[in-house]
Amino acid sequence: MGRPSSGSKRVAIIGCGPCGLTSVKQFLDEGHEVVCYDPNTEVGGIWVADLEDKDRTTIYEGGYLTIDNKLMCFSDDQPEGPGTFSTFVQYEEYLVNYSHKFDLRKHIKLQHKVVKARKAGAGWDVTYRNVATDEEGTEHFDMLVVSVGANGTNKLPKEIEGFEGEVCMSGQYVNSKPFAGKRVLLVGSGESAADMSKAISDDAAACTWSMRNFPAVIPRVPNAYHSTNCLTTRCHYGVQKSVVADEVMPGFFEDSMLMRLIFLAGAWVAFWYEFFFYRILGREERLNGMAVDGRKRKLDPFGQELGKYIDYDTLASPDAKSLIDTWAYLGGNASTLQPGFLIKNAVFVTNVLNGKLKVNIGGIMKCEGKSVTFKDGTKMDDIDTIMVCIGFKTEFPFLNKDDFDFCGDFRKLWKQSVYPKDPTLAFTGFARPISGGVPVCAEMTARVLARLLSGKCSLPKDVYGAIEKDRTFQRYACRHNCDITPLITSQLAFMDGLAVVIGCQVQTWELLFADPLLLWRTYAWGFNPAQYRLFGPHSNYKSARKACFEMDRGWSALKVLLLSIDGVMPVVCPRLVGLHKRANLSIDVERWSFGGKPRYPEEVLQQYVMAN
Ligand SMILES: Cc1cc2nc3c(=O)[nH]c(=O)nc-3n(C[C@H](O)[C@H](O)[C@H](O)COP(=O)(O)OP(=O)(O)OC[C@H]3O[C@@H](n4cnc5c(N)ncnc54)[C@H](O)[C@@H]3O)c2cc1C
Repeated sequence: MGRPSSGSKRVAIIGCGPCGLTSVKQFLDEGHEVVCYDPNTEVGGIWVADLEDKDRTTIYEGGYLTIDNKLMCFSDDQPEGPGTFSTFVQYEEYLVNYSHKFDLRKHIKLQHKVVKARKAGAGWDVTYRNVATDEEGTEHFDMLVVSVGANGTNKLPKEIEGFEGEVCMSGQYVNSKPFAGKRVLLVGSGESAADMSKAISDDAAACTWSMRNFPAVIPRVPNAYHSTNCLTTRCHYGVQKSVVADEVMPGFFEDSMLMRLIFLAGAWVAFWYEFFFYRILGREERLNGMAVDGRKRKLDPFGQELGKYIDYDTLASPDAKSLIDTWAYLGGNASTLQPGFLIKNAVFVTNVLNGKLKVNIGGIMKCEGKSVTFKDGTKMDDIDTIMVCIGFKTEFPFLNKDDFDFCGDFRKLWKQSVYPKDPTLAFTGFARPISGGVPVCAEMTARVLARLLSGKCSLPKDVYGAIEKDRTFQRYACRHNCDITPLITSQLAFMDGLAVVIGCQVQTWELLFADPLLLWRTYAWGFNPAQYRLFGPHSNYKSARKACFEMDRGWSALKVLLLSIDGVMPVVCPRLVGLHKRANLSIDVERWSFGGKPRYPEEVLQQYVMAN
């Protein structure tokens, strides 16, 4: 697999959602000539709300992102201040501003859909159609980058064949008004389904949510102070060592035990510092929600009263916690392993607790007329509408099999991006972190692609071997849901691996002497993608440093210490990992899973009844 010749090249980018948009910027930064095609009238992909479009697979009213803006915004344009959850509309505004700020729009052909892309010589012939005028044209490019997103067409479950009422797809959902007064069955799960189940059950006459298994529910403000982003830190990532993470994803620790021991020493000092000043001397607790300049947060990331809510308009009540813990236990997600089935949105919990939303676990057996029989033998009659939220099919109709023989497994591409048979074909937006943002992963991927094209870096000599190694790791680390093939276990680990290829990884030894506080931030505080702008190509140390110092810290000093101890052990120590998990979400369940007695069979029973 050779190194492409150096110099400026012509690149076609298909799709201008967040991933295509940042790809435009990264290729331009490397000096290439870029043309990006998108059929929409505005940049932003699914975030462009076109209510007239009947085939829409886009956002709906009232939605908030599942991760805060620090992880959803690109490393080269970080928002100021503490992390907050943007509404869908605000995120679209951010993307439009990004396109203006970096003068990207003259490289983007809106209202142009790519209908055909064919290998031609060493490059690609791309045929597009102007959706306003129907005119077609073809241009030649050296490289083709596909950024059409994973939300192509809605999937339809076979089990609802035979249903005679109305069927509505999640991609078409705008708001809950059409469901008012109706009997609704919602099928499938995920963050969008969580929003829809809450909104629909507020207005419908009856609403049942059918899921295959109890999910692990992660509220967006798990400790009622700051977002889940703050739990994405390197001290946490260190525990992945036992699954050869460092071998396939080098970078921060530079495979150095000495560096890990230095962090352990730092964690030890930080622990005693906090113990002495905050516990013994009673200095005001500043840990939860520490934001800019160490000042305490005044509001949670949704702008709600601090310490009161675990999600948007969702009270941090003991009942809510009990329900979440019980579901984790019942769904087999209570161990220290990655959960098999995760919903990072807890807004629906209130309506399960107040009985507006019934939950049926196990799945649908059959549909007859307007009735549905579930696998547990129960039945729902007189259903007006079935709302389908089981995800989307990913398709590339403009490519043919000779040029791209896709087996459906993105892990068979190098870094879930480059087609190994022909590195002039690549994809951005198909590395989806278990927790974290798709767009920032695409940004890093695009940085690598742009440098590959100009010959400033190259694919590994044994590219198939490298792919297989990464694939083995991802399949192992995501083994509970390894059928979701774009899934990556850790955004941070994935991006560290790409950073090494680009040469923009955090220079730990340099920071240790030059800026140790910043180094500590990159280890123990919430992860910010601006870390990859501290060093290397297209870096801006000053603004990247500021962005790192604006992160919240999710782990207390005790938990950082436990994770650091675990980070120097040859294997993952489940009791230590369990300890911090225990302190976070599922105390009772953890007790049970470590051999203790189930603590609340009564509550388990109660929640189970609630779900049916
Ligand atoms: C309701 C909802 C909420 C979400 N929330 C989050 C979140 O909080 N955090 C997160 O990380 N992810 C979230 N996602 C996932 C989200 O889709 C991605 O993060 C992000 O939009 C992916 O960007 P993308 O550019 O890859 O794809 P998209 O946003 O889907 O954009 C793809 C673009 O490609 C264009 N296109 C398709 N075919 C062609 C063609 N033939 N020619 C030219 N252009 C074409 C499309 O028109 C579209 O504009 C959410 C998804 C949904 C549906």
